[in-house]
Amino acid sequence: MNAPARESEARPIDDLGPAGRFSSAWKRDEPLARHTSMRVGGPADLFCEVASDEELGAWIAWGRERAMPVFLLGGGTNLIVGDRGIRGLVLKLGRRFVRTEWTIEGDDARVVVGAAANFKRVVLDTLERGFTGLEFGEGIPGTIGGGVIMNAGAFGGEIGEVVEAICGVDANGNPSRLPREALHFSYRHLALPAGFVVTALEVHLRRGDREEIQARAAEARRRRGLRQPLGQPNAGSIWKNPPGDFAGRLIEQVGLQGEQVGGAQISPRHANFIVNTGSATAADIRALMDLTRDRVWAARGVWLEPEVRLVGEW
Ligand SMILES: Cc1cc2nc3c(=O)[nH]c(=O)nc-3n(C[C@H](O)[C@H](O)[C@H](O)COP(=O)(O)OP(=O)(O)OC[C@H]3O[C@@H](n4cnc5c(N)ncnc54)[C@H](O)[C@@H]3O)c2cc1C
Repeated sequence: MNAPARESEARPIDDLGPAGRFSSAWKRDEPLARHTSMRVGGPADLFCEVASDEELGAWIAWGRERAMPVFLLGGGTNLIVGDRGIRGLVLKLGRRFVRTEWTIEGDDARVVVGAAANFKRVVLDTLERGFTGLEFGEGIPGTIGGGVIMNAGAFGGEIGEVVEAICGVDANGNPSRLPREALHFSYRHLALPAGFVVTALEVHLRRGDREEIQARAAEARRRRGLRQPLGQPNAGSIWKNPPGDFAGRLIEQVGLQGEQVGGAQISPRHANFIVNTGSATAADIRALMDLTRDRVWAARGVWLEPEVRLVGEW
């Protein structure tokens, strides 16, 4: 007689928690390089695109019961995922979380935006309707959920300025709504309870002059096109700007523009961008970041803080 299988081997596949209760596809060992704009990153142990709040809550609760780390992936445009990937469960919000609902009263619009909605599309929608407040975001890739977590901003605007409330699921998998008073936005940061997943934002916009709004957006587009290496895989600004200065300017001053480690290069177009020239690993990018931080610290006495998030195993 065969020895009894260990519990983990004996467990059938649809005991994989909510996998058996919901029809969404889940995968083992999904390469995360496919899901990040930098095109690097090893596999997620378990990866699932969830289709409803209920399914999201069920996976989170299931992970928590097993002390399994749970990571929420947005558009992957602000992430460097380690070459060994992410242990535990990686969740992505599916199409159900893209929906946007507008309520317009006079010159005020209250918009409920699903967290998986594409930031650029939401901006486009506001431009077409002639509402002001988000035009700074013209050209910011990724999801609106990732945008609020990062308090994404550009050219003097930040998403935090127009957010009235955040809806989501807490670390136990229960639905939750956080009003503006409970939200603490700072430069490229929003302090949220640990493990909170954003499923929708409530945003307040005001009617503006359509031509002026579109002109501001066009100017943002022009400035991006001029300096950013948009044709190569990247993750946006690597470093936060230190108070009163620009990270890109400091990196230029220490002579690192164009510097390369393996397949990672400090962009010759914009020194605060690292591009993947085709064969970069996450380790190359990290080594280039370490080199930059050391050189800027030694030469200028400024300690650069990453804007990108480094996640997973290295
Ligand atoms: C070419 C380029 C230009 C860029 N320009 C700008 C810019 O001008 N200004 C700017 O601020 N940023 C910029 N970025 C960075 C990036 O696009 C933004 O930070 C974006 O808002 C991140 O969204 P995302 O969906 O890709 O998030 P991800 O990169 O997937 O995730 C970022 C973080 O948010 C968390 N997260 C994502 N979604 C959720 C959710 N629903 N609930 C809970 N946690 C979540 C993730 O766990 C992760 O910690 C740029 C990036 C690129 C590639």
